[in-house]
Parts: sequence; C-alpha cells; structure tokens
Amino acid sequence: MKSQTAKYDVAIVGGGIFGLWIARQCSAAGLTTCLVDKSDPGGGASGGLLGALMPHMPDRWDEKKQFQFEALCTLPHRIAELEAETGLSAGYRRTGRIMPVRTEQFRKQIPERQDGAEQSWKESSPGLRYDLVEGPDPNGWLAQEEAPLGFTFENLSARINPRATMAALSASVRARCTVRSGTRVASVDGQNGLVKTADDDQISAGSIVLAAGYESFPFLKELTGLAIGAGVKGQSVVLRTRADPDLPIVYDDGTYVIVHDDGRTAVGSTSEPAWSDPSRPDPENDRFLRRAYDLVPQIRTAPIVEWWAGSAAAMPAARSRARAPAGASARDRRDRWLQDQFRHRPQDRGCRGFHDPGAPSSAARHFHRGSSSGQGSVQTREFGVIAAKRFSGPTVRPRRGSTIAACSRRARN
Ligand SMILES: Cc1cc2nc3c(=O)[nH]c(=O)nc-3n(C[C@H](O)[C@H](O)[C@H](O)COP(=O)(O)OP(=O)(O)OC[C@H]3O[C@@H](n4cnc5c(N)ncnc54)[C@H](O)[C@@H]3O)c2cc1C
Repeated sequence: MKSQTAKYDVAIVGGGIFGLWIARQCSAAGLTTCLVDKSDPGGGASGGLLGALMPHMPDRWDEKKQFQFEALCTLPHRIAELEAETGLSAGYRRTGRIMPVRTEQFRKQIPERQDGAEQSWKESSPGLRYDLVEGPDPNGWLAQEEAPLGFTFENLSARINPRATMAALSASVRARCTVRSGTRVASVDGQNGLVKTADDDQISAGSIVLAAGYESFPFLKELTGLAIGAGVKGQSVVLRTRADPDLPIVYDDGTYVIVHDDGRTAVGSTSEPAWSDPSRPDPENDRFLRRAYDLVPQIRTAPIVEWWAGSAAAMPAARSRARAPAGASARDRRDRWLQDQFRHRPQDRGCRGFHDPGAPSSAARHFHRGSSSGQGSVQTREFGVIAAKRFSGPTVRPRRGSTIAACSRRARN
C-alpha cells in the first residue's frame, strides 16, 4: 500500500549550501520544512575544499555588488550564530586577499577600484581597504617575481572551511527539519505543489525550493522552457603545509591558494565545461596546481592530502540590463527571464520583519514575516532559489529576486 503523502510548508530539493541555509531560515520562521537530497547533504559542490568568499571588485558599483557586499559583511554574525547553536566550527576567518599586479592594464584599474572602495565599502564599514602594495609581500608568501608591479590587498575577503560549514549546517537542519537523505527527486510539479521522488513517493508542499546545484537546470527547463545554464566541473586539491592560518587568500586569474585553520592549504581550481564524470579527479589536469606553485613557492613540496572534483552551476553572463525585444532569441528570452527574477516588486520593499542578507555566497537574503500582511517569504539570488508563501491568503505567489526560481503556485493546504 502506498504511504500517505507527507505535507510541509516548504520542500527543498538539494542539501548543498543553498538548500541547507534556506531550510534553516524556513524552520527559524516556523515553517515546517522537508529537505530532500539524493545522497547526503553536503555531497555536492558545497562539500569541496576551497571556501573562498571574495567580493566583486569595488569599482563600477551596482545592485548585484551591493547585495554581495551586504551578505559578506553580515556573514561573520550568521556564522557565529551557527557555531554557537551547533558547537561546531565553520573555519571562518576574514583573512583578506592579495592579487599580484603583473600588467600595466591591471595597474591602471587600481585607482578606480580604490575610489570605489572608498565610496561603497568604507561608507558602511570604515575599516575596509583596497590597497596597492608596491614591493615584496611582507609575509614572504606571494613570490616576488610573480608580482613585478606589486600586489593589491583588500581585507573584505574571507575563507571558510566548506566541509566544516556543511557539517554545522547539516547538524542544525537535522535538529529542526525533516531531512530525507538518499532520496532522488525525479520531478517537481509546481502547479500542484508536489515533489515526486525516484522511488515513487511524493511530498506535498506549499512552496518548493529547487536547490539541486547544477542539477536544478533540467527541472528549470521543464518548468520554464528555458535553458538557463549548465554544470561546470572543477577540481581542487588540499596540501599539508602547516602555514599560518592568518595568511590572506592569494588569487590570480582563476588560481586560488587558501590557508585554512588546520594549517592545510587548499589550491584550485579547474573550470571544465565538458566532462564525463563530474566527481572523478583527474590529476593529469594539474595546470592550476603548477600555477599555484609559481605564485606561492612555499607550497611546492607540500604533500597532497586530497584531490577533489565536483560540478557547480554556471550561467553565461547576461547580455545587458535592457529588456529583450519581442521575437528575441532563446538567449535573450533567458536573459530577460533572469532580469525579471532580479527585479524587486515594489510591495516587497515595505515588508515588515527583519532583513537578513547574511548568508554564504548570497544564500537566503531576505526573510520577511510581515504580520500585518500575513506574508512571509524567503528569497535568494545568484544560483539561488526562491520560496514564497502567503500565510493567510488563498494563493502563493513567487517573490522576485532569484536567478533560479521554482515555486508552487498552489494555495496552502
Ligand atoms: C572546484 C570548485 C571550487 C569552488 N570554489 C568556490 C569557492 O572557493 N567559493 C565559492 O563561493 N564558491 C565556490 N565554488 C562554487 C560553490 O561550490 C557552489 O556555487 C555552491 O556550492 C553551490 O551550492 P548549491 O547548494 O547550489 O549546490 P550543491 O552544493 O551542488 O548541492 C546540490 C545538492 O543537490 C543534491 N541533488 C542534486 N540533484 C538532486 C535530485 N534530483 N534530487 C535530490 N537531490 C539532488 C546533491 O546531492 C547536492 O547535495 C566552487 C565550485 C567548484 C566546483
């Protein structure tokens, strides 16, 4: 006999950083929440090695940069809450980032970035800086020959231990929500608020959040008819270095060198649009590692502890902010859809409740629970998802503001 359909306020597909963070926020708001993962939470891209939390460059400021800035600034507080709740460290530290200046072109951009930091960063956080350092790295970490024109240093970047963070988040979510590990979601029926699993079970929810990483794209294609993005495989390694955990992130053109609390140093990463097995490490593909050895010669002899591969969602950059004209190409229609997701609805601004931009890499941004309107919603952006619910009204409407959105439009049971 088939079991009765379980009912929740929110069902979340995928237990990576986005799914777990949203689950935590939903349960904190009193919503019954079920998170479903095909394996164990933390097994996707979020369970990697790097953990770089790097801001956009502070010049040419826009809404997206402001959004990320707010998230990065409030993150320490959110992480402290998570650690206090679970007793588990997330390995977070605001170490800053250095970037070697190797070309005149880069050097010419620096004054504009410094001006941008003065205006956009320092206004709300006076201690933040974006500096050009002429001369060798005083820590002796970045190779001098790699930085012939000096290096930039900014102190907004931070690093976090991805697996430790996932362990803490998982512990928090397991204590608050229903977690169904080892359950693959086969389809999502947004109209009827149903999540159907591969083992022929189903979950009913007022709102459905798609947080399956790059594996969200087929669901989104089904729901919107639009090909929004694809998976990109990445590889990284972790080395046993015993380096000073206060050392800043070294970043240069896609190569990262990040010292973590345990003295281990993570190095990344590749970016492979074509692959057969997303999780198969390929040590032949070690150009990023050799580049890291050039940047930071001290890690050259460090033993490799682990080689990791995984895939993350990637979307080609949207073309422009202008709306696509009628009869536009599929890519234009996709871009227009994305822009619509980013646009705020006027009524969202007046919501009462608390503003919560403090989540990793732009996860759950707002949480509103306006008692007068009886409306609550969780919103995320950039590879994020959306869940919305009218607590008292007969309909559920999706809130704008996410890149990847999947919402049930069904009234609450
Ligand atoms: C090599 C590499 C290095 C990176 N480094 C950084 C970095 O330094 N800083 C940074 O900010 N970002 C980094 N990223 C990107 C970052 O890891 C991702 O953007 C982020 O982890 C995505 O989180 P997510 O929750 O969307 O997806 P994921 O973490 O991939 O989680 C998706 C979850 O959904 C589950 N799932 C998938 N399909 C289904 C289904 N059908 N049914 C049920 N469950 C399903 C999976 O099992 C998984 O647990 C890196 C990515 C890679 C590949």
